[in-house]
Amino acid sequence: MTYRTEQCGAFTTEHIGREAIASGWTARRRDHGGLVFIDLRDRSGVVQLVIDPEHAPEAHAIAQSVRVESVLRATGTVVARSTGTTNASLATGAIEILVDRLEELAPSEPLPFQLDDVGVDEVLRIRHRALDLRRDAMQETQRIRTMTTRLIRRYLEDRGFWELETPILTKSTPEGARDFIVPARLSPGSVYALPQSPQLFKQLYMMSGFERYYQIARCFRDEAQRADRQLEFTQLDLEMSFVTRDEILDLTEGLYCAIWRELIGVDLPRPFPRITHAEAMLRYGSDKPDLRYGLEIADVSDLVRESSFGVFKGAIDNGGVVRALACPGAAVLTRRELDALIEFAKEWGGQGLAYLLLDESGEVRSPIAKFLSPTEIAGIIAATGAAPGDAVFLAADSAGAVVRVLGALRPHLAARFDLADAGAWAMLFVVDFPLFGWDETEQRWVAEHHMFTAPRAEHEDRIESDPGSVLSEAYDFVVNGSEIASGSLRINRPDLQERVFRTVGFSDEEAEDRFGFLLRALRYGAPPHGGIAPGIDRTVMLLVGTESIRDVIAFPKISGGFDPLTDAPSPATSEQWRDLGLKPPPPPSTTETPA
Ligand code: ASP
Repeated sequence: MTYRTEQCGAFTTEHIGREAIASGWTARRRDHGGLVFIDLRDRSGVVQLVIDPEHAPEAHAIAQSVRVESVLRATGTVVARSTGTTNASLATGAIEILVDRLEELAPSEPLPFQLDDVGVDEVLRIRHRALDLRRDAMQETQRIRTMTTRLIRRYLEDRGFWELETPILTKSTPEGARDFIVPARLSPGSVYALPQSPQLFKQLYMMSGFERYYQIARCFRDEAQRADRQLEFTQLDLEMSFVTRDEILDLTEGLYCAIWRELIGVDLPRPFPRITHAEAMLRYGSDKPDLRYGLEIADVSDLVRESSFGVFKGAIDNGGVVRALACPGAAVLTRRELDALIEFAKEWGGQGLAYLLLDESGEVRSPIAKFLSPTEIAGIIAATGAAPGDAVFLAADSAGAVVRVLGALRPHLAARFDLADAGAWAMLFVVDFPLFGWDETEQRWVAEHHMFTAPRAEHEDRIESDPGSVLSEAYDFVVNGSEIASGSLRINRPDLQERVFRTVGFSDEEAEDRFGFLLRALRYGAPPHGGIAPGIDRTVMLLVGTESIRDVIAFPKISGGFDPLTDAPSPATSEQWRDLGLKPPPPPSTTETPA
């Protein structure tokens, strides 16, 4: 007797006539009054079981009462399906297993939701994640995820990278977010921080002479969750010594081309465009522009500097700018829709939004047309490349406000007019970020990327005198308008690192206290080094085409950092408080205190 034990999805016509054992979950059961059919499912796919009461009465008795999602083991013979009953859409659709013996290894209770129901509340799905993850789409996502990290490992190992570990319980490794802290039982009053990224440790590896490091690293940031952000997430973290910026970008580009080709069969055109931060802000109003569509912003300040339209002239006289973009086909927008766009601009901190509608004959309709000269109008149309049927949107304000408004308007209009081709991929690198940005609330300079990023060598002498003008060696990798990776060349001299610490407001003592371990290592010969850290979750989101990071993380948290699966976070017990030498916070007061 030759038994054939296969994964459910792997049975084929080659196995016809062989004895078979198949194990899996009951995906579907159909009782035809005599024959019972069961679709048995495992990770590999589905195979059909036939249970004939004449042939196997005991198996039939079990099959009759079995609930969906119960786990079964079937023993029988692989047979060809009779003509007319084959299923071409199924890999195993030409065969079935005629069951001799059926065992119910684990029955399932009635389900809280049906696996093929797409409208199920997400919290309920996460609460029963072990069920939810059985759905085909979730299985496929985890398959893509594991293939992605496998390919990354192969790609980097082939290029001499070592996979090295870094600690989880550590001192703060700042990336600009709030740390998660862990009270240290053995040092009452002290805390560890969970790493926001392995940043400083990967730099220490370079200083230790390891030259090429990578890690599929979990990062923790205590910040508001969004559709593409979780409290803990996974990065491909990598670092190289004696490296140039372009070598790191080329490596990243090659890696993403390999992933796209092998996992979704897409050949990405190379090289990926590399544009400066300043150009990205000017032309697209964003440091992560979506280049699947045009909607390029043009600066028309010079054209309207002397305009009799007070709003334009006033903005420029106040040191601001007037910029515009043309949206194809947008002349059809109704008054109501145009008003809504003006409101949209205000929500983004603008004064409003002016527009010119070019009808099909090239005639311009606009409430502001009467204030603009024909030369001004013609100039604006030429600068934005507007064609008949298009609308031109103009914002006049401080440069910062105009960038914000038009930068938000671009993707908004692209979505309204469906301008991004489905299946299009727009990868690019944004380079030459400023080293510092001014934080209005804190009234101080902050690092734009992180404090360990090197300034451009030719700007080093301006760090103290004009921090805002210093460009850095930082870069971002952007795909279809989302930031997929950030990285930089790093500071490798202690004096330079100390100057950056001072500029962002650390006294030398504070710097020594917080980053003494880094400064110490920098004092004994640190090679020039740099790296990048692509988000694995975000990469998988692109590959499977989902907008929600929770779809690609097997066990995610929902808003408020709550995990509906385990109910974490949960209150600490009195023993835990005591062991840590901490006091529980007072219970939130429920009654109003009288004034
Ligand atoms: N550690 C940085 C981050 O997490 C990336 C890098 O600079 O390599 O964004």
